[in-house]
Amino acid sequence: MMHIEPDNNSLWVARKTTIPQGKNKWLCANIIYKVITNDNITVKLQTFNFDSITVSISEFQEEFYQLDYDEEYVYSPYYPTCKVSLSEFDIKRISINKLEKHFEKNPSILNAIKKAKQDAYNSKGNQFCITIEKYNDYKINPKSNKLERIGDPIFNRSTRHSPPISKSYTYDKFTKSASFPAPIGIREEDFALPSEQNEILIDLLSQIFSCKNAPVCPEEIKNELGLHFQKDTHICLWCGEIMDLSNINQNYCAEEHSINFCHRIPELGTKKGNVYIGHCSCNREQGGYSEEQRVEQIIRLAKTNPKYKQLILDQLS
Ligand SMILES: [Zn+2]
Repeated sequence: MMHIEPDNNSLWVARKTTIPQGKNKWLCANIIYKVITNDNITVKLQTFNFDSITVSISEFQEEFYQLDYDEEYVYSPYYPTCKVSLSEFDIKRISINKLEKHFEKNPSILNAIKKAKQDAYNSKGNQFCITIEKYNDYKINPKSNKLERIGDPIFNRSTRHSPPISKSYTYDKFTKSASFPAPIGIREEDFALPSEQNEILIDLLSQIFSCKNAPVCPEEIKNELGLHFQKDTHICLWCGEIMDLSNINQNYCAEEHSINFCHRIPELGTKKGNVYIGHCSCNREQGGYSEEQRVEQIIRLAKTNPKYKQLILDQLS
């Protein structure tokens, strides 16, 4: 049990287990919270740039554990490098309400803007994650059928600063975790701290307005958000063509050469510099390989085939 003095708000804590809050929201285990206020009856907590939650002092003492911190970092073994800079808790999400309002009558651009926001701030979906309804049923009546797989450690979409779950983490280990069958984190490649989430958003929005036939973004909004774009300069890195937004449609990848969010190294996920707006067809052609892996494959092919080798040398000379 954790003891805290009244009015002691220099505390960093985390939940021991994931639990549902209401019907649609999970409170994630091991995500870092800062104690905002504590009057010894209730404790107000905030995780990164999210809305604060208030818990009773008894719940706080039973369900949370304390984390070490110093002037620069808070320490947690559940985060990359086992620490998070305290400054990440002061970074607010960028509001793009004005931008969305401005393009509300342009559904294809609005869709691209919304997709950029979703990719910047949310992890990908996971159909195997248990629903809150099924979780509540399970808690009342746990199933003993070992053959039936229930739940998954990965959330079906969550904030990108949730604890990343290593690829080597097994389902068996998950069944023994205190949170089981509730999810406990996000995929490693989806992880990004608030500062990086904001950078990714600005980068993707800037790419949208750097495309050919991009609509005009009002100067005021551009400056306010810190967008940096130059029309007709954004290229699809796979084919080298300038991206043309007149091909964009509401259904992503519904047509050849529609636009998509492409990853230079798919395994690395939506990290700054690794994601760009490119063609859907090009993304499909690259497949699950990184650009470099594709080049290595071509080199291997050319090594045993003089015709290909010559073709490459001629093209590049
Ligand atoms: Zn392309």
